[in-house]
Order: sequence, then structure tokens, then C-alpha cells
Amino acid sequence: MSHRRKFIKQSLLGSALILPGMASLDAVAGPSRTRKTEKPLILSTWDHGIPANANAWEKLKNTGSILDAVEAGVRTTELDMENLSVGLQGLPDREGITTLDASIMCGDGSCGSVAFVRQVKHPISLARAVMEKTPHVMMVGEGARQFALAQGFPMEPEVLSPKAQQEYDKWKMHSKYKPVINRENHDTIGMIGLDAAGKLAGSCTTSGLAYKMHGRVGDSPIIGAGLFVDDQVGAATATGLGESIIRICGSFLIVELMRQGRSPQEACEEAVRRLVAKNKQIEDIQAGFLAMNTEGEVGAFAVHPGFTFAKATGAGNVLMNAGSHFKP
Ligand code: ASP
Repeated sequence: MSHRRKFIKQSLLGSALILPGMASLDAVAGPSRTRKTEKPLILSTWDHGIPANANAWEKLKNTGSILDAVEAGVRTTELDMENLSVGLQGLPDREGITTLDASIMCGDGSCGSVAFVRQVKHPISLARAVMEKTPHVMMVGEGARQFALAQGFPMEPEVLSPKAQQEYDKWKMHSKYKPVINRENHDTIGMIGLDAAGKLAGSCTTSGLAYKMHGRVGDSPIIGAGLFVDDQVGAATATGLGESIIRICGSFLIVELMRQGRSPQEACEEAVRRLVAKNKQIEDIQAGFLAMNTEGEVGAFAVHPGFTFAKATGAGNVLMNAGSHFKP
């Protein structure tokens, strides 16, 4: 049976109905466990998750590969010129240089990541090349760029996007080094997906914290912090202030909590509690987690209100609000 026909047979409605619009959080909020399960299932962070999920869904339909789907999905955001926190159009570091971080992981433990990379339009595909074409997991900086060249990735000119240049010029007027927290609805994209047969994969890509110190790397390319996937249990991804997420090894923590029997929602809430306990000046820190288990149960939770995520199933692609530790 072709991938396409198999997918159609296995998915609930056969094809994606893309229905953007805000859904209530009944399915994921609150302590009680929701047993309603859906496969295939694709989740991704923030409002930009809607177009990313749509492309991931299409890819899954066409190739039957959840890995191809999570790569294709976030490539959408890497190209989105309106987005100032993913891709080469993202806000630069305090020297005015845009550096990118990305990771990709399959449920069998294969993974790859790149960090502090310049001039590569699709760091997620470079992360996949690290996973598939090298014996390594992580490559950084100039070495990663050289590897990209050797793999035939085109090098983009090092100019800021008009929007990023405008914002950077404004920032330079006062030029204090102050990490910008992520309260707005644009941020790192983390995507996790489950196919109809129960295989998992995830991807995460970012230009990192705006005006970071040159050389700073956040959670997104760190396997276990920004992303973790295990076919035996489930998957998790993170967004927000990377330092706070690395401190608790956030995505790995969530998968391990699920392994011990917590629901994805309970695991995300526990990770946020841990993050709140381990980080000072929590009022200035936003961080959020998304998780799913092999049954297709969903979890989402953030430190502060405002974290949205997109959920795609055979029934459609909807934007949802996650609950938060601090209430509105
Ligand atoms: N997690 C990213 C980082 O710290 C930032 C973000 O989510 O926007 O690099």
C-alpha cells in the first residue's frame, strides 16, 4: 500500500482539515487525566505552529515519515520573514550577528543538532545531516558551517533582515545587555509528532535569545533540554529562556516523568514547578513545555500565561492556550 493510502487509512478523517482558530484547553488543562487519544498527532509551539503543522501534516501524508514531517514542518518557520526568533531573519546577538541552533530526534534514540551556526537557512536540515551522515550528535560554529558547505548547503549572505535590522538599531540606542524574555507570541518552534503506527519524532529550531552574548547557546540544540523523544514513552519540547530549561534538563525530565506513569500534562506541570523552584527572578522568565505520550495524550504548560501551541490531528489543526503556573 502506498504511504499516502496507508496514511489515509490510518488517520481519523483521512486528511487534514486546517481549521485555525483558538480552541479551549479542556483537553489539556487541569489535573484530571484525559484518556482521549489521537494518532497521527503533531504539536508545535506558538501561533507559528499552525502553518508549520499544516506543512508537517502534508509531508506525513505524502511520505509516511514522521521524521520528514517534523523536519518539513519547522522549515516553514525557518523561512517566515515575519518571525524574529527562528531562522536567519531572527534577531541577532549583541554584536549584530544572527546565529542559529537546532535539533532533531527520533524515538529510537537517533539525534543530531547544530549550534551557533551562521549563514545556513535551514539549520534543522543541517541537524538532520549531522544525525544521518556523521557519527556525531552535535556540531557547532565554524565546524558546523564547514560541514554544511561540504554537504552542499547554500551559504546565505550575512545581512540582517529589514525587520531585524530595525529592531537591532532601536536596541543599540540604549544597548544594555538584558536578555529579552519571551512573552510575545513568536518564539522558538519546537515540534513533536506521532504517526499512526506509534512512531515518534521531534524537531526544534531557533535564532535564540535576542541580543545574547556572542557564542551563547540555549536549550534548543541540547538533546534532553529543548527536545527529547523516546518511542517507548513519548516526546517533549521546550520554548522560552533556554538557561532556565537547561538547568532542569526540561524535555528529558518530562519524558522520564511520563515513563514513571505521569500523564503528559502532569509531567509538564511538574517540570514547570521544578523550573520555578530552580530559577531566580522567575517573574522575568517565560518558559513553556509541550509533550505527548505514545497513546497520543497531550500536555502543555508554561511559567506565565500566554503560551500557545498548535495541535494537528485528523480532525484539524487548532491553536490552543496552555495553562500556566502563575495565573493571569
Ligand atoms: N529557547 C530559546 C533559547 O533560549 C529561546 C526561545 O525559545 O525563543 O535559545
